[in-house]
Amino acid sequence: MNVPFLDLTAQYKVIKEEIHEKLDKVFQSCAFSGGPFVEEFENGFAQYCGNTHVAAVSNGTSALWLALLAIGIKQGDEVITVPNSFIATAEAITYAGAVPVFIDVDPDTYTMDPKLIEKAITKKTRAIIPVHLFGQTADMDPIMEIAKKHKLYVIEDACQAHGAEYKGKKAGIIGDLGAFSFYPGKNLGAYGEAGAVTTSNKDFIDFIKKFRDHGQFKKYYHDCIGWNDRMDGIQGAILSVKLKYLANWTEQRRKHAQYYNTLLKDESEKLQLPKEAGYARHVYHIYAIQTEPRDKLMAYLKEEGVNCGIHYPIPIHLQKAYAHQGWQEGHFPLAENCAKRYLSLPMFAELTNEQIEYTVAKIKKYFQTNS
Ligand SMILES: *Cc1c(COP(=O)(O)O)cnc(C)c1O
Repeated sequence: MNVPFLDLTAQYKVIKEEIHEKLDKVFQSCAFSGGPFVEEFENGFAQYCGNTHVAAVSNGTSALWLALLAIGIKQGDEVITVPNSFIATAEAITYAGAVPVFIDVDPDTYTMDPKLIEKAITKKTRAIIPVHLFGQTADMDPIMEIAKKHKLYVIEDACQAHGAEYKGKKAGIIGDLGAFSFYPGKNLGAYGEAGAVTTSNKDFIDFIKKFRDHGQFKKYYHDCIGWNDRMDGIQGAILSVKLKYLANWTEQRRKHAQYYNTLLKDESEKLQLPKEAGYARHVYHIYAIQTEPRDKLMAYLKEEGVNCGIHYPIPIHLQKAYAHQGWQEGHFPLAENCAKRYLSLPMFAELTNEQIEYTVAKIKKYFQTNS
């Protein structure tokens, strides 16, 4: 049996007709950049998330960057975030002119540890970016409380957390702004690059909608020096079709996670299962276990036809790209632990029980023959 880590084709086959019908409308109207199909998606996603405005943009990295520009980040400001994320979280901070200041994570959820925030705050701190890692939100109440006390903005990196909930509230509407990615492999994925910013602040949304379109408020009248970060009409159309299925796909992911949990619960001496916090509704963008012989297990599984991933093999503070900041191994032990021990098992809505059973059988076999 071959178990892919992610199978985008399986999903495409289910929605193919609808996608092609919708694309036909885009081609007939030739609304390729921004325009009505993007607006339709903005409205749909705003409704999906709850009480918020949405600005569709070109990708998730830009969504983070534009959110930082909206709050007025300036050269030399500091933004507190975590090192166990995709590098885009830090890149956006750097390209907004600020400095990413990392803090370690909570040992259960591997999201930002709110207890460590205040120690990292300086006179230059302007914002906090918690990352809703793998589809589970950070513990937002204490983060929002600290931000309020110190007059800091909170931007949620919700790029892995479409539809995830914190105490019943959707990711992206808890902080001052939320950043989403619709990279093809995300829980809600475009057929190319796309992203969005969510916020209930009308000034922020107006700024981002202007900035993403060269700062123009009408054609060739430029209020500010902006950039080109528009979403394609094609991506807006595809995302509108797929949005209708997101709730159902999320249910499937949660079922698969439960099934993995049930089948793997007797292996607790050899591996740690992901924990869903009491406050959270996890959407399992990634289902990651932790285990000591991670690399050997991953290689064995690959030989047996099971494809896994590592998210992420090197934490951001130890990447060559951030060497100039002088971080060292040992600065963030939990985030580093995550890089050494995390193994992402196959996870996507269309995954079958047989594929999960096969994957688990191979994991058990590995530990039987290597104990
Ligand atoms: C995917 C991702 C991003 C970047 O999104 P792109 O659309 O690829 O630019 C940022 N942060 C996190 C946590 C992500 O997973």
